[in-house]
Amino acid sequence: MNPRDIPPEAFHASGAEVQALDFGYVRSPDQDRTTPAQHPVVVIGAGPVGLSLAIDLAQRGQRVVVLDNDHKLSIGSRAICFAKRTLEIWDRLGVGQRMVDKGVSWNLGKVFLKDEQLYEFNLLPEEGHERPAFINLQQYYAEAYLVERALQLPGIDIRWHNKVTAVQSRADGALLSIDTPEGAYQMDAQWLVACDGARSPTRQMLRLESKGRIFQDRFLIADVKLADEANFPTERWFWFDPPFHPNQSVLLHRQPDNVWRIDFQLGWDADPEEEKKPENIIPRVQALLGADAQFELDWASVYTFACLRMDQFVHGRVIFAGDSAHGVSPFGARGANSGVQDAENLAWKLDWVLQGRASPALVATYGPEREYAADENLCNSTRATDFITPKSEVSRLFRDAVLHLAREHAFARRIVNSGRLSVPATLHASPLNTPDTDAFVGTQVPGAVLLDAPLTKQGQPTWLLRELGPDFTLLVFGPAPVWARDLPGVKVLQIGIDVIDHQALAAQRLDALPRTVYLVRPDQHVCARWRTPTEAAVRDALARATAAAV
Ligand SMILES: Cc1cc2nc3c(=O)[nH]c(=O)nc-3n(C[C@H](O)[C@H](O)[C@H](O)COP(=O)(O)OP(=O)(O)OC[C@H]3O[C@@H](n4cnc5c(N)ncnc54)[C@H](O)[C@@H]3O)c2cc1C
Repeated sequence: MNPRDIPPEAFHASGAEVQALDFGYVRSPDQDRTTPAQHPVVVIGAGPVGLSLAIDLAQRGQRVVVLDNDHKLSIGSRAICFAKRTLEIWDRLGVGQRMVDKGVSWNLGKVFLKDEQLYEFNLLPEEGHERPAFINLQQYYAEAYLVERALQLPGIDIRWHNKVTAVQSRADGALLSIDTPEGAYQMDAQWLVACDGARSPTRQMLRLESKGRIFQDRFLIADVKLADEANFPTERWFWFDPPFHPNQSVLLHRQPDNVWRIDFQLGWDADPEEEKKPENIIPRVQALLGADAQFELDWASVYTFACLRMDQFVHGRVIFAGDSAHGVSPFGARGANSGVQDAENLAWKLDWVLQGRASPALVATYGPEREYAADENLCNSTRATDFITPKSEVSRLFRDAVLHLAREHAFARRIVNSGRLSVPATLHASPLNTPDTDAFVGTQVPGAVLLDAPLTKQGQPTWLLRELGPDFTLLVFGPAPVWARDLPGVKVLQIGIDVIDHQALAAQRLDALPRTVYLVRPDQHVCARWRTPTEAAVRDALARATAAAV
């Protein structure tokens, strides 16, 4: 079936029905051309990253071709935890509410040692944010809602059953060879973005590498559908050395449809084929849930993982994003979350360059910004993995001592690492930032994503992030200076006039006084701020933030 003919309700069906969606192959007129068709942006891979990027670009008015060798959503159980920042990005892409409506929202986690709770933590301990710290949602639902959104946008041409088999990179673009059920064709991309997953055929075709560490441990994923509403609350529960799975760790998470994700650490010696057999999984699950628990096995797999990244994400006109650029362990839910942040960082930069509003130097800044973010994720992911799976007797002794101390002492809880959960990177050293010249306190530094806050607009509730413009926003506490209206492509948002900070949380979080001004990028990162700026200072910061003055 032509994907555009799929009825809208098909995207809102049950998990099994959504997973069965088959996006048909449609012949493209490009296949009948004698010379390769030219396209401004081609994205390889219709995973969460490629789809988010394509939607962002299309919403900005760009035409995008997305090529995927498959014709279905992701199979089985992969990502389930989607972070606040990802939801905020998806809000901008018109799918955040859909994800939240289906997903299970949570902020609380608990850490256990053996059968005793050591402590609990709240990932979003304050009120006044539109989105929770996380939702849990099966990756196939997330992808389904992204495909549905992409199909609503005329600028996106998703071509299923289109497998990229060769890439020739040039100074001004890339030539792609593509296999389809009706034979091969070629296409020319002005910009090519490889979102083709951890094994990235594009990376291999260009003889590029991803380097890092492979971890010697195996984990069993068992997704089980409980017959009754569960006995567990909607929280993240992590056990070290529980009595029902001694000497290993276990993670429990709730997903929609009363499905529970259980990750059992198995050790390196485990035989993956044996461990995947239902007769071996069911006793493990019963030991956790209780002998009387009624459940069905929804999905099982055994995984190992690596922490890797490419040295550089930008190679001329070929750019890598998501798992193709970097891979992390699943502890901390960083894979898809950081990939969606890659997409949002890249989308506006490509758009500006394609529109002729900035030079390719702006796209080049995607590399260092997202490589820095990847390093932060890799560092957190590696530390979590080392803590959960200590590789020497000394590391195990240290870990156990920390766990025992964590029962009583807050300082030790900071050292316990059951997977620090994804937060957006603060791009401290970005060349697009203008360093502070005025004194500010708090975490809202240049390079950080703007913190959200509740506002009202014409008496109706709204949120700070929702009020930002698609390009730059000049956020002014109080009346804007007259020259602000002349800044090209900049939305001026006056707090106290256009919107009301009725709980004073925006002012508090941004350490704002009357006349404080923040300059916010299209991807909602702060790039400059002042107590009372001059027009020249703001224009300089804008030039820097678009790589015109880097
Ligand atoms: C067990 C597990 C649990 C996880 N949990 C989480 C979590 O809770 N939160 C989180 O954020 N992340 C999690 N992840 C990671 C997450 O699944 C990945 O980071 C995410 O899928 C990466 O998205 P992507 O779009 O970069 O790549 P992918 O989702 O891998 O998509 C790549 C796409 O490229 C296509 N493709 C490949 N080769 C070609 C080709 N030659 N031509 C055309 N198309 C091609 C593929 O068909 C595919 O559609 C988990 C992963 C695993 C395995």
